[in-house]
Amino acid sequence: MGNSQGPTATTTRPSSDSREHAYGAATGGRNHHPSSVRQSQKPPSPAREHEDGQLPLAHKLTILGGVIVPFAGTIAAVVLLWNQFVFAHDLVMLAVGYVLSALGITVGFHRYFTHRSFETKPFVRYTLAVLGSAAVQGPVIGWVADHRRHHAHSDQDGDPHSPHVGHGRGLRGALKGLYWAHMGWLFDGSTRGNRQRYAPELFEDRGIVLIDRLFVPIVAASLVLPFGLGWLIGGSLTSALTGLVWGGLVRIFFLHHITWSINSVCHFFGRRRFETEDRSTNVFWLALPSMGESWHHNHHAFPRSAEHGLRWWEIDVSALVIKGLERLGLAWNVVRVQPERQRQRLAANET
Ligand SMILES: [Zn+2]
Ligand SMILES: [Zn+2]
Repeated sequence: MGNSQGPTATTTRPSSDSREHAYGAATGGRNHHPSSVRQSQKPPSPAREHEDGQLPLAHKLTILGGVIVPFAGTIAAVVLLWNQFVFAHDLVMLAVGYVLSALGITVGFHRYFTHRSFETKPFVRYTLAVLGSAAVQGPVIGWVADHRRHHAHSDQDGDPHSPHVGHGRGLRGALKGLYWAHMGWLFDGSTRGNRQRYAPELFEDRGIVLIDRLFVPIVAASLVLPFGLGWLIGGSLTSALTGLVWGGLVRIFFLHHITWSINSVCHFFGRRRFETEDRSTNVFWLALPSMGESWHHNHHAFPRSAEHGLRWWEIDVSALVIKGLERLGLAWNVVRVQPERQRQRLAANET
């Protein structure tokens, strides 16, 4: 253990192995079960995972509800705004709620739980898991399993949400692929990552298993909270409802589409500079709302790096938050990619 683990692991590997080490199982993180080490060395075959099959109808309807209700809420919000029914505290709740649940996804679900980019204390771990759950992108263990499968098969057969695999050619194929990567994949159970296979170590943490099971109550609480605050601040049912719409539904709607854009836009439009086996891209205009996740090509090149923005102008709010946690003694063994290693990958790309 120690600081050498992350950076050394990231900087000395040959360029072709990033898929296999996307979440650091082979480096012996604190929670890793031996089976996860074996798993990371030999990614499971996509064909076997398709045995998981179709999602139950109730599950599909739940996902549909999670997608459509925030959308309907946003339409309602526009109507309410039109009629002057939006208050300053609604927008504050929208902004604060957005930032907190987005960081739950970016710092928590993604960089901490999926990629083990840093280590932290249990209360920070559980807080991140709860905040990420409030983003309504599914329970934490399933999210991690899906995303690890994305890295294991990026833009190849077996990737849960590639815009490039199996959608046909031409404009029609491109549009179909973009829709699939953005949200179509959510409705297809056959593309999901098997939780036991891709995230075995999370089942060893009883707190995380509990938060995973409490997904629906956490989502409900994230809606009741702005409703209650709106009621307290405005003192009427109208202000409670506008609080629910802006602090709850609009927040979820915006965050859904920004997160899904990482899977669609950031594998389709934008710039590349490293040698990777996928078609990931860096998209500058999504950097701020995505909290740095849109430097997605950098992330595929160096999956365990806590920093996705690698140049000074590549704004990465999530990396700043991790740095802040580190300063406070709440994050350690933060994985960073040395400039020399970055240059090596650039040079390989140019030859
Ligand atoms: Zn990707
Ligand atoms: Zn990732």
